Amino acid sequence: NFNRMASVLQTREATLKEVSEKEQHVIRALAMLAEMMGFITSEIKIESILQTFLEMTRSLLKSEHSGIFIFEGEVKELKLFKTTIKGEALVSLECAKAMLMGPLGEAIKTSSVLRMNELTAELPLDHPPVKNFIALPLFSSNNKMSALLITINKSGGFTPDDEDTLFSFAFQAFQSLVLHEEIARLAVTDGLTGLYNHRAFQEKLSEETNRAERYFKTFSLIMLDIDHFKSFNDIYGHQTGDLALKEISKIIRNELRTVDFPARYGGEEFILILPETAVDGALIVAERIRRAVAEHQFMSQSGERLLLTVSIGVACYPDDATLKEDLIKKADHALYFAKDRGRNTVCTYQETIAGIIKEIPEE
Ligand code: GH3
Ligand code: MG
Ligand code: MG
Repeated sequence: NFNRMASVLQTREATLKEVSEKEQHVIRALAMLAEMMGFITSEIKIESILQTFLEMTRSLLKSEHSGIFIFEGEVKELKLFKTTIKGEALVSLECAKAMLMGPLGEAIKTSSVLRMNELTAELPLDHPPVKNFIALPLFSSNNKMSALLITINKSGGFTPDDEDTLFSFAFQAFQSLVLHEEIARLAVTDGLTGLYNHRAFQEKLSEETNRAERYFKTFSLIMLDIDHFKSFNDIYGHQTGDLALKEISKIIRNELRTVDFPARYGGEEFILILPETAVDGALIVAERIRRAVAEHQFMSQSGERLLLTVSIGVACYPDDATLKEDLIKKADHALYFAKDRGRNTVCTYQETIAGIIKEIPEE
């Protein structure tokens, strides 16, 4: 009897130990999650949030390295890859794409967790060998962003408990991260046009001015105002006006490079920052926008085809001004000159001081 009781007690003890160990895992994951949430609200840049996310994943699972692929939209286009491994080749998105061939790509497609001993995907040259790994697909409730979180090389291998621990930490952390990104995006975006708003523009201009000063770079400002827009609104209504604002924003975006920065400066005024672009280059872009707007057919609510034109002023750092407020003033001055010349035209600040009046375009 005594022996039987002893063996029952022993199995109970073992079960209790197992339960308590599991609890410890959950508590650690929750503590880490709380820390992560605090970090997300205090940090602004997604890059540094992700770095912390990866470090925490590594420390939570006691693994050697972690990495994360971030995808955008329902088509799951790869936008970003971050890893705790320091390697030259690992920086490129092409390289990250190659890694998604094979089982990792499959895990994303099927939204299932992958726990394996050794990875057969194509690894970059400076990537350490993968002895074992867990890959966890993550997605946001609004479907705008998804990710694949990987952690590699744990001595003794990963267990199903590790899978649970990783999930309880990473799933919530990722939801918060997506929410943070969405809020951060909304804070810099103009609601009607989707371009950057006035405040975002001011910040970017400070950044760009500092950068240009430090590295002796040049950049241009393009300021754009719709011609006779008050009459357009009066005749066709505010709603048609708003639609036109959206369409012009789309035209602007189409004519720019990804490094350029288009913002809605005021009601029907736009301002664009073109990094590493001198006045000649900016003139070409401005002229392309002017022409594209003039050739575009806008539509009234009753289906009439309407035309609109814009006037544009261009100023350049450092030739026209080195202080950001001055640069805006000079672009505005050039815009005023373009209006004075009869609208639907582009004018540089240099032209205004030289007093050169070019032929007004036939349109
Ligand atoms: P100009 O050629 O000299 O620029 O003439 P304008 O009538 O365009 O004059 P201004 O640039 O001062 O235009 C301001 C007008 O733009 C006032 C308003 O009717 C219109 N506007 C400003 N913001 C908005 C907006 O958000 N939506 C709409 N529909 N119209 C706007
Ligand atoms: Mg105006
Ligand atoms: Mg106007």
